[in-house]
Amino acid sequence: MIRTKDILDEKDKRLRQKSNNVTFPLDDKYKKFIDDAIQMLTLSQIEEEAEKYNLRPGMGLSAIQVGINKRIFVIVYEYEEGKFENYIFINPEIVSQSQEMIYVDGGEGCLSINREVEGIVPRCARINVEYYDIDGNRHEMRLREELSIAFQHEYDHLNGILFIDRIDKNNPYKNQNNMRAI
Ligand code: ZN
Repeated sequence: MIRTKDILDEKDKRLRQKSNNVTFPLDDKYKKFIDDAIQMLTLSQIEEEAEKYNLRPGMGLSAIQVGINKRIFVIVYEYEEGKFENYIFINPEIVSQSQEMIYVDGGEGCLSINREVEGIVPRCARINVEYYDIDGNRHEMRLREELSIAFQHEYDHLNGILFIDRIDKNNPYKNQNNMRAI
């Protein structure tokens, strides 16, 4: 299981690397990362489990956050109280994006950033993406709202970008009125 101590902190330079594409068949160690990440992210969103394992709640994790320099990330989305949907994205690409911008009211979080960060992270409200599944099949998907934000957050990790980079240092709430809070 992935524990808090296994997740790289923002100061770790590995988080600034660009991750590499994955080749198929998928190596067992990447499959293990996917299984472990799903387990950890699910438990982290169930209060008593999170407490038991000392996990901060999170809905996404990229392989680079545990030091695996590959273009893989996992999102575990609680679509209904206590009900979770798993999303596995391998070699993902953003094909197109909406003009409309949104942001997380109260700020984005990241399992690699262990402090409160104020400010707005502008994200596209809707995106169309392409990616591969664990068997190497290619898929297309349209993502909206929270899932769109989660995807963009994790996709940034693959390129060495953290959400704090997207907050204007001098004016953390810049252009707030041009975007919709969710
Ligand atoms: Zn993150």
